Amino acid sequence: MTIALNWAAIRAKVAAACERAGRPASDVTIVAVSKTHPASAIAEAAAAGAVDFGENYAQELAGKQAELVLPIRWHFIGRLQSNKAKLVAGKVALVHAVDSLGLAVELGKRSPSVQPILLAVNLGGEATKGGVTGETALGVARELAAVANVRLDGLMTLPPPSDDPAASRPVFEALRELRTRIAGELGLALPVLSMGMSGDYEVAIACGATHVRIGTAIFGSRPALH
Ligand SMILES: *Cc1c(COP(=O)(O)O)cnc(C)c1O
Repeated sequence: MTIALNWAAIRAKVAAACERAGRPASDVTIVAVSKTHPASAIAEAAAAGAVDFGENYAQELAGKQAELVLPIRWHFIGRLQSNKAKLVAGKVALVHAVDSLGLAVELGKRSPSVQPILLAVNLGGEATKGGVTGETALGVARELAAVANVRLDGLMTLPPPSDDPAASRPVFEALRELRTRIAGELGLALPVLSMGMSGDYEVAIACGATHVRIGTAIFGSRPALH
């Protein structure tokens, strides 16, 4: 029951954040981040109305896809090594965190149909995190846009962890500005901005997010391992 209630509360808060931003609620897709939670939790959220689910680990995604026969739109939101691309290519609506030409090429090769992807940009300056830098983003986006059988739909980011949602704002605004610049340079629409998690999705929506990735606020806390 808790998951259904959490889902309803998040939906209402997302709708309210959209309204404050003068945007229709249909602008924002809530991706329920189900990593480390069992298939039964996904089924509960789906029964409450959730459609989009995000997973971080290729094997875990494959297991859950085999187990669940529900009309789910899957998203891969984690870092992905090129050698695991075959587990994900063609199996998800969107791969959020592509940060190399090699990975995009592999996704295109392994997918039976055009694979939508996002370029992950690391704007918080954290060396250990995936994602290209703001400085290299345009060049990599240009490369990704030319890869066969993938379609670059936009950008994704993950700000440094903080207890203060407002701390994410400069990162979200920078991602939006980068999107505008890259879209102009490459002549692409790049409609998708994947940004915002449980702690800062309302700020992300104010800054133009089209996809918010929400785990803890829907499913509760995860084991510390992940
Ligand atoms: C786990 C994860 C999330 C969800 O984080 P919560 O704080 O639990 O909402 C969002 N995005 C990415 C990339 C993640 O790995």
